[in-house]
Amino acid sequence: MKVPVLIPKIFNFPFTYDSNSLKNLEPGDLVLVPFGKNQEIGVVWNSIQPSVKKFKIKKIEKKIDNFKINKSLIDYINWFSAYNLVSKGMVLKMCLGDKKNTTKIEANNKISTNSDKHKFILNKDQKKSLDDLRKFGNSFNVSLLQGVTGSGKTLVYFERIKEILNKGNQALILLPEIFLTNQFKERFEEFFGFVPAIWHSKIGIKSKRKIWQGVANNSLNLVIGARSSLLLPFKNLGLIVLDEEHDPSYKQDEGIIYHARDMAISRASFENIPIHLVSAVPSLETFSNIKNKKYKHTRLINRYRNFPLPEAKVVNLEKSSLKKDQFIADETVDLIQEYLKNEEQVLFFLNRRGYAPFLICKRCGFKHLCPNCSIYLTFHKSINKLICHHCGTKVKKEKICKPDKELCDFRMYGPGVEKIYEELKKIFPKKNIKIFSSDFLSKKSETKSILKKIENNEIDILVGTQLISKGFNFPKLNCIVVVDADFSGMGYDLRTTEKNIQLYNQLSGRAGRFANKSTIIYQTATPLNKTLKDVLENNPEEFLNNELIIRKNKNLPPYSRLIALIISADSSHDSFRAAQEIKKKLSTINQIDILGPVDSPIFKVKKKYRTRLLLRSKNSNLIQKSVGKVLDNLTISKKIKLTVDVDPINFA
Ligand SMILES: [Zn+2]
Ligand SMILES: [Zn+2]
Repeated sequence: MKVPVLIPKIFNFPFTYDSNSLKNLEPGDLVLVPFGKNQEIGVVWNSIQPSVKKFKIKKIEKKIDNFKINKSLIDYINWFSAYNLVSKGMVLKMCLGDKKNTTKIEANNKISTNSDKHKFILNKDQKKSLDDLRKFGNSFNVSLLQGVTGSGKTLVYFERIKEILNKGNQALILLPEIFLTNQFKERFEEFFGFVPAIWHSKIGIKSKRKIWQGVANNSLNLVIGARSSLLLPFKNLGLIVLDEEHDPSYKQDEGIIYHARDMAISRASFENIPIHLVSAVPSLETFSNIKNKKYKHTRLINRYRNFPLPEAKVVNLEKSSLKKDQFIADETVDLIQEYLKNEEQVLFFLNRRGYAPFLICKRCGFKHLCPNCSIYLTFHKSINKLICHHCGTKVKKEKICKPDKELCDFRMYGPGVEKIYEELKKIFPKKNIKIFSSDFLSKKSETKSILKKIENNEIDILVGTQLISKGFNFPKLNCIVVVDADFSGMGYDLRTTEKNIQLYNQLSGRAGRFANKSTIIYQTATPLNKTLKDVLENNPEEFLNNELIIRKNKNLPPYSRLIALIISADSSHDSFRAAQEIKKKLSTINQIDILGPVDSPIFKVKKKYRTRLLLRSKNSNLIQKSVGKVLDNLTISKKIKLTVDVDPINFA
C-alpha cells in the first residue's frame, strides 16, 4: 500500500512510501523511514501526493508506537505552512524538534492541582472577569482579558486554567520573554502547588523530549512556553492563554517567520478551544477585532489593591541647562530625593545598552561602523569595546588617527545605561546602584540574585533597559525616570507610536504597586511632541481609535494585508536585480499592488545587502496561495536569498 509520509525537512509535500505490510497506518502516526542515506522520523500525512516518478518507492521501516499527532495538528501544520509561505516539512520540524529517539516513554506524573486556596482571594472585579471568561464558553473563541498593570489579571487566568485542568484537559500559557519567567514561575508554584514545565528553544534536549512526550501522551497537562511551544503535540488541549499579547517579541523575525499571537489563535481554532489574550493596552489588531465584535472582551478597571497609578511629570531639558555630558537634570535629582530619603526605589529607564551610541574622532572625524552591517557601533565601557547591536560583532576602540599616527581621540555622543550609571554614581556616591540590561544578566544566577536584591530593597537606584518593563513586581519601586523621552526620531516601523504607548503604559505600571504616591518623570527636549502627549494622557482607548482612523486612511493593516519579500545577496547589484525579476513574475497576480524594490533602511546586515518588495492586497483575500504558486516556480540564482515575511512588523 502507498502511504504519504511528511519528512521534517525543507520539502513542501509528503513523499510516497510502501507500507511494508504494516497494518492500520493512519495519518498522524510516527514512522521511521529511509531517506537518502539516512533514516528519518516522519509522519504519515493526510494527502496522497501524485507520485514523483524519479524517486524509487522505499519501504517504511517501522512504526513508532505510543505517539501520534492529532488530525487537528496535521490540519494546523498544513494551514500554518500555507499562511506563512514556509514548507510543510519545516513546520513539521518545528513540531517534532530534534527527535532522535521517541520510542521510550518516560514516566510523567499527572499534576494535581491542590493548592492553598486561602492565599488567593479574587476581588469583585476579578470574579466578574473570571465569570465572563467562563461564559464565553469552552469551544473556539478569542477573548481579551484587559486590565491596568497590577490589576491582577494573572490570578484570573490562573483560576480559569485550574478549572480547565480539573476537567482533565491540558493548557498552554504563552509568554513573550522566557528569560524572565523565574518570578512568574514562583507565583505559579505558589498558586498551583507544582513546578510548571517550561518550554523554549534553550532548554536541554532531555527536557524537550520529556515535555514533548508528556503532552503527546497526556501525562503532562500544563506547559508555559515561548513561541515555539505552539506546535507541541498536545493530545487534549483545552485552553491557550497568551499573556502580554501586544508584545512585539511574539513575532519571530528570523528563520521561519511567523507571528505567534496570530498562529496561537489559529491553533485554538483548529483545536476548537478558547484562547484568552491578556494585556493592559492591546495591539491595534486585537483592539480592532474587539470593536468589530470578532473577539470578546472583559476588563479589570482598578489596580488590585486600589493604589493609584503614578503621577506623570515632565522635565524640560531645554530649560534645565544641562552641562556637557550631563544627562540627568538637576530638577530630576530634586524630584527623586524624596523617594530615596524614604528608602524607596528609583528606576532610571533608558532603552540603550552600553555607554555611548556614537563615537567620533575629534581630529580625523573617524566613526566606528560595523564591518558587517550599515550601522554605527555602540561603545561598551564595561568591556572597553564597541558592539554592533545588530549582529553582535565586537571591535576594539583604539584606532590610528590618519594625520599624525597617534590614536584617535574620540568624543562620545548620547547616553547608554552605563553612562547614566556613571553619572548617578557621581551624584549619589553612597547609594547602591545597579544596571539591569541583558549585558549584565547573561547568567541565570545573576538575574536571580539581582531580582532578589531588588525585592529585598537592597538596591536604591536601578538603571534599566526595556527588559525591566516586563512582568516584574518590585514592591518598593515608586519612582521612574525616563531619561530620554524623545520620540521625534523616525522608526522603520508603522507601529512605533503604538509600541511606545504600550511600553510606557507597562513601564509606569511598575511603580507604586504598594504605595499611595508614586511618580513617573519624563525628561525631554521636545515637550510638545505628539507621541509624548499621547503617552502622558495615558488614554490608550482614544489613541488606538485615532490610530485606526490613520491606518484606514492610509490603507494599512488591519485594512489591508501586507507581505514583505526580503531579497539579500553579497552584492547590492545582485539583490536589486533579483528583486526586479521577482516583481515582474509577481505582477501576473492581479489582486495585489507591488511596492518597491527599495533598499532596506538598514541596507547591509551581516555582510548581506538587502532589497525589499512589499505586496499589498485587500485584507479579505488570502493572497498567499497565488503568491506561493509564483514563488514555488521561481528559479533564482544560488547567490540570492529570499525571505518571505507575511504580516511584517519590522521594515528595517
Ligand atoms: Zn553588525
Ligand atoms: Zn582620528
